[in-house]
Amino acid sequence: MTCRPKGWDDWRWQMANRIRTPQQLANTFPRLAGGPDLTSVAAKYPMAITPYYASLMRRADSSDPIFQMCVPRVQELTDPPFLMADPLEECHDMPVPGMVHRYPDRALVIATTMCSTYCRHCTRKRIAGTRETSITKRRLEQIANYLTEHPQISDVIVSGGDPLTMSTEHVEMVLSRLRQVPSVQIIRIGTRVPVVLPMRITDELCQMLRKYHPIWINTHFNHPQELTPESIAACNRLSDAGVPLGNQSVLLRGVNDSPQIIEKLCRALVRNRIRPYYLYQCDLVRGVEHFRTPVSRGMEIMEYLRGRLSGLAIPTFVVDAPHGGGKIPVLPTYVVSQSPTHTVLRNYEGMLIAYPEPQQRFDGACRTPQEESAPGVWELAAGQYSRIQPEKTIRHARRQPCCTSDESVGDF
Ligand code: SF4
Repeated sequence: MTCRPKGWDDWRWQMANRIRTPQQLANTFPRLAGGPDLTSVAAKYPMAITPYYASLMRRADSSDPIFQMCVPRVQELTDPPFLMADPLEECHDMPVPGMVHRYPDRALVIATTMCSTYCRHCTRKRIAGTRETSITKRRLEQIANYLTEHPQISDVIVSGGDPLTMSTEHVEMVLSRLRQVPSVQIIRIGTRVPVVLPMRITDELCQMLRKYHPIWINTHFNHPQELTPESIAACNRLSDAGVPLGNQSVLLRGVNDSPQIIEKLCRALVRNRIRPYYLYQCDLVRGVEHFRTPVSRGMEIMEYLRGRLSGLAIPTFVVDAPHGGGKIPVLPTYVVSQSPTHTVLRNYEGMLIAYPEPQQRFDGACRTPQEESAPGVWELAAGQYSRIQPEKTIRHARRQPCCTSDESVGDF
């Protein structure tokens, strides 16, 4: 049995004893001494690794998935020009500092910039760990006021950084204020502590969360090696407290970009009451080029999973589109062809099936009154709008307004 230092099971001890510098890293893993100088990488993108997460490494080199996800590498300093600090343009969708409002019914609160372990592939590398600060009462009040003025927002995601690195009192301050907004129905917490700091999921925290249901948690397992007895026990404590768990993985080159690894991960998640929710294509974030995989790799993985796993265990593969385009699901194509009488489908084995369409004309028997909405693809298909016109194209600027088809002919 491994001898653990006193305090190992206390999350505050783990936070206080994080590996924060390349020197501490070399002290922990002597074989790294004499390797590349990581000082400038850690200066640009902060490092922190909990002793617990460091203990999951089986080898202190890049063949180990845990090592890859938490140890800085010099490749982080080399970026192709299309990578951005904030590829999702969250800063443009912040009506209140620290709150992103992109989708009509959802908002995301950046409750802290602190994490227990700084993932090298983080989408918010621009803020995670740059200053370890957490939301103030004043800022929370501004956010709550905005939510009250926008009752269409019913689902609030508390994110960061990692919100569960805050004290239980601080997390409760956020949850209780959000719960006072009558239109907020669901609160979701995005956290990686079940993976990197499972001892943070204390009974005290679970008791507190119970008071603010419905609370959902999305966590972030990327590799089966992260599912340990400790992390599973932490997830069980949350599930037993009535918190449904989802998992968001990121596809990472050399870490989990294999159909078999993702299959193993998804099976283990479902076995432990964690629903695989999203599999993300790596964002176009500066410092992560060495982690990126082609979109086609994600498609291959989805092709592999379908048929092998139950639908419950299959995440949705998404590209979180640059320029604030939002999450775009990317799926293999299962519709081979369509006619008015048949749709030709294929299954995961390549079998082709003709599915006969209803013989009576279909005119949407279950239609319910729709609220007016901005034009989107659904509105085009429903016949509510006839086109979506991109602005500022050269052809569009060249066109002259005209009133009748006669005028449109013009003078010769
Ligand atoms: S825990 Fe989340 S926010 Fe923190 S570094 Fe990892 S991915 Fe980024």
